[in-house]
Amino acid sequence: MAFDSVLSSKHVCVVGAGPTGLVSARELLREGHSVVVLEQNHDLGGQWLYQAASATATVHSSVYASLRLNAPRIYMEFTDFMFTPVEGRDTRNFPGHRELFLYLKDFARCFGLTELIRLNTEVVHVGMAAETGKWIVRSRDRRTDDGEFMEEIFDAVVIATGHFSLPRLPKIRGMEEWKRKQLHSHVYRVPEPFQDEVVVVVGGSLSGSEIALELVHVAKEVHISTKHSEIPQKFVKPVAKYAHLLWHQQIELLCEDGTVLFADGSSVVADTILYCTGYSYSFPFLDTKGVIHVDENRIGPLYEHTFPPSLAPSLSFVGIPNKFIIFRFFESQGRWIAQVLSGKRKLPSADEMMKAIEEVERHQELEEPKNFIQVIAELLEVMASLQVSNNS
Ligand SMILES: Cc1cc2nc3c(=O)[nH]c(=O)nc-3n(C[C@H](O)[C@H](O)[C@H](O)COP(=O)(O)OP(=O)(O)OC[C@H]3O[C@@H](n4cnc5c(N)ncnc54)[C@H](O)[C@@H]3O)c2cc1C
Repeated sequence: MAFDSVLSSKHVCVVGAGPTGLVSARELLREGHSVVVLEQNHDLGGQWLYQAASATATVHSSVYASLRLNAPRIYMEFTDFMFTPVEGRDTRNFPGHRELFLYLKDFARCFGLTELIRLNTEVVHVGMAAETGKWIVRSRDRRTDDGEFMEEIFDAVVIATGHFSLPRLPKIRGMEEWKRKQLHSHVYRVPEPFQDEVVVVVGGSLSGSEIALELVHVAKEVHISTKHSEIPQKFVKPVAKYAHLLWHQQIELLCEDGTVLFADGSSVVADTILYCTGYSYSFPFLDTKGVIHVDENRIGPLYEHTFPPSLAPSLSFVGIPNKFIIFRFFESQGRWIAQVLSGKRKLPSADEMMKAIEEVERHQELEEPKNFIQVIAELLEVMASLQVSNNS
């Protein structure tokens, strides 16, 4: 029997037209599936479609104006479409955010994805019809307040909605009573509104440190508060350089009069607290009748971060891992999903997938978390094996 004769084409809905949705759509298309991409925004790009923050409307992107890519452009490209410098655009090796947006536009155009994307279409419900095993996707036209609802049926749904949009806030004593400005980095765009202010930046990861170093040029004082008991290495030099940049341990108490009290006993009266404390997973549209659990840090059970065993392969996720963001890994996920849906690849049984998930969880509980290099090495191994079997 010819191998191709067992392959089947599915009608697949991809939710989200950010990097992971786009590359999944390309892989699905290449595998012969019919694809519809539903995107709530007015354009594709996901996080990379820069949006001015709004006091009234919710925005998806958390990208601020000065943001540059944190990896060289070569690490951000998909296969068969190089992210090479284009004359007249931002040709830096670590370009600004707009350059990645333009790359994604070019990518979509090149692979015929643009015409598959239905813009301004917010998915409000994804649930399985018990009788048919097909997926019902309900969406809303966002161009008007009373936008029309639409219901469609798909063989499979790929969730590619990202997870850097719902702010995660710490719980701090006195937070409710503190009457001055409290913001999350999700709505931070430019430093000017903080001119001459005393700002406390909470969190010292990527966004926290970049934003603090940007604010130092306009604010009266910038206080960075982190969970560490000693000043983190990356702040040693900046704190030595700028007299009005100060590091503190975590916040202990916020007082009604504007005082911020830190665990190391120091305090400051601040105008603004800017929380750079990360994001939570959220899939408000997804109804799996309790099969999938989502809390702020975690979504599961997912086999290899992709398939929920009892709903696989018709429901899948791309881009879920939080610690590592490698576009080629997301591409491998998209290709894997496409090939499992066509029948080219097989998944283990639901029981076996559950066992594998439990095994990983047990491992994580018992042992030290793997370091970043180990995780990357393992991922690259998986990607290499996918590449080999694709080419064979
Ligand atoms: C400040 C910041 C800096 C970053 N810097 C880097 C970096 O330098 N390098 C890097 O590799 N990564 C970086 N990232 C991570 C970034 O999120 C990923 O690069 C990438 O955007 C993830 O792609 P995605 O498609 O999974 O999600 P997203 O880019 O978030 O795209 C998801 C898409 O789904 C759509 N969507 C969501 N819900 C719905 C719905 N209900 N209906 C329809 N559509 C919906 C959204 O509108 C969006 O277009 C950064 C993230 C942030 C927040």
